Formats: sequence, structure tokens, C-alpha cells
Amino acid sequence: MIRKLDSPPYTVDEKVLMRFDQRQTIFGRMLRDKKATFYRKDMYENVAKIIAKNEPRYSRVEFARTLGAWAVYDYFHGAFSWQQLTEPNTVMNKPVLEKYPVMDPHIMSEQVKETAKLYGAALAGICKLDHRWIYSYDIDGKPIEIPEEYKYAIVMAIEMDATAIKTSPAFPACTASAMGYSRMAFCIACLAEFIRNLGYRAIPMGNDTALSISLAIDAGLGELGRNGLLITPEYGPCVRLCKVFTDLPLEPDKPIEFGVANFCKQCKKCAEACKIGAIQFEKEPSFKVVCPSNNQGILRWAVDHDKCYSFWVENGGDCSNCIAVCPFFSHAKMRTSFQALIFRRK
Ligand code: SF4
Ligand code: SF4
Repeated sequence: MIRKLDSPPYTVDEKVLMRFDQRQTIFGRMLRDKKATFYRKDMYENVAKIIAKNEPRYSRVEFARTLGAWAVYDYFHGAFSWQQLTEPNTVMNKPVLEKYPVMDPHIMSEQVKETAKLYGAALAGICKLDHRWIYSYDIDGKPIEIPEEYKYAIVMAIEMDATAIKTSPAFPACTASAMGYSRMAFCIACLAEFIRNLGYRAIPMGNDTALSISLAIDAGLGELGRNGLLITPEYGPCVRLCKVFTDLPLEPDKPIEFGVANFCKQCKKCAEACKIGAIQFEKEPSFKVVCPSNNQGILRWAVDHDKCYSFWVENGGDCSNCIAVCPFFSHAKMRTSFQALIFRRK
């Protein structure tokens, strides 16, 4: 059963927790951390050799399909604009109407979530913006400050193709992941413009600007798993996350709990499926960090992102083994059939 909570189901050490610097993420360190074993090692640097081995699901065509799937996320920069989009590819002038008066934040919130789903989000939730989850600096070292008027985060989960994810770590799973990213860009771009066309401000983002999982937990989309990913009741960890900050008056959702923390103490399937030992086997979560890309002060099973990324380089693409084997994902389809009975959201 899903229980609604008054506060998020995570434990932080307030004395230690600090805003995380995006330069400390694995991609920031790949660019700058000369001490890292993967410094300047591109995820695709081994691809030609991997394709030449002629292994099933690692073909030239499948790799091109993966890169094609990244196109919108990687090249449509407008998706991440903090300002209303300009230079339209249309001859129609867009009318600028008066600011829409929000009489009831509850109704507005329902309309926002309905709109997010229309644009492609599988799940959408709203939370008050907790500034602890905003990166202190972006990946280029620019300080990030979000003005106080952006009171809310709309957090969206984009479902990934389950069949393709099950081929992990082969290229079709990388394509599913890339498709998730490009659909994130589509979804945030549309939702941000929707809000701006009501006369309010919107900052859309993918993995940049703030920590997605913490915000998704705050917004009631799911709980944190041993694999370091958000586990949702509907899709398990088979989702990508994106978010839009806004000054539109909204009503936050409540965080939820449906037994992930306890289940993960017994189940170690993700740790067993990780080919490089990046996921912990310890029964209990702890405050221990295992690599410089873990932020301190959060009770969890910290994932060794150094090992994880090293495997991606070896594999010629990202990996979703810890998604594919998760029982919350395996049972997701069955849940869809029985969703109304078992995991109904009110
Ligand atoms: S993505 Fe793959 S390598 Fe990384 S932690 Fe998950 S299973 Fe391990
Ligand atoms: S595979 Fe098992 S231990 Fe890992 S996140 Fe899923 S439920 Fe938790």
C-alpha cells in the first residue's frame, strides 16, 4: 500500500549536508578531475572496437540508433532556457494575454499535472522547492542561485521502454535511456512554455541545476532504492526524471512510502547484477560515502559512481542492469493490471 507522509522518507544529517557542486558529479569529474581513473575517458571511446566484435545487440545500426535518440536532449538547447523561447519556426504571432489569475492552487496543480502527462510525463508531482537540493555550482563552475519567488518544483517521471531496458547493458537499453532523456527535454520545454503563457515564470531542467531524485521524493513520486535510483510504485526505477521550477501558485503533493527501504534491506538483486561491484551489499543503509561523487550527509546505500562510469566506458554505453533486475520494475507490468487494486494513487 502507498502511505502518504507529512515529511519525506529520507534521513539527512543537517550538520553535514551541503548543496552539491555539479562539478563533483561523474561527468564534471570526467572533464576536470585529473586524479580520477576515468579523467577525459569518453563513454564512447571504445565503441568502434566493441562493434567490431560482432556481439549480439552491439551492432553499428543499434549504436547509431542510440545516438539518434539523444538528438533532442543534446541539441535542442531551448528546452533548458530560463526565458520564454524566441525565434519561432512559424509565421504565426503568439498573442500575449493578461496574466492568468490563480484562484485555487489545488485546481491549478491538477491542471499542471494533467498538462505534464499530456506532454509525455508518466508521473508528475509538486513540492515546495527545498534549496538544499539545488546545485551550488553548475558543471562549468558558475554559481547557481534560484530566486525566492520560484517556490515550487514540478517533478516529472518519463517512463523508459521496458523491453529495451531488459537488454541491458547492450545498446538497445542505451537507446531506451537516450529516448528517456530526449522525451524529458520535450516535456520540460512544453511545460515551461505552458506556464509562461499563463504569465508566470518557469525554469526547466533535466539532470542540471538540482538533484532530481531528492526533489522527486519530496514531490511524492517514489522512494530511494539501494541502487541509488528513485523507485516509483508504478514503474519501479524504469524512469528518467526532469523538473520545472516556477512561481505559479501551486499546492504541493505529499511524499509517499510503500516499503522500498525495508524491501531493499533483504533484496540485493541490483548489487548482484552490477558487473563492477558499484552497489553495496550491506544490509543497513549508512552515511558512508564511497566515491567523491557522493554527496555527504544522506542516509542511504551510496553507489560507487567511479566504478559505475568505468563500466560504461568499458561497455561503450550506459548501463541499466540495476534497473532491469529490480523487482519493483519486474512487477511493474503486473501492477499495471492490478494497479487499481494494489497501488492506487488518490
Ligand atoms: S548502472 Fe550498471 S554499472 Fe552502474 S551501478 Fe547500475 S548496474 Fe552497476
Ligand atoms: S533490486 Fe532490490 S535492492 Fe535493488 S533497488 Fe530494487 S528492490 Fe532495492
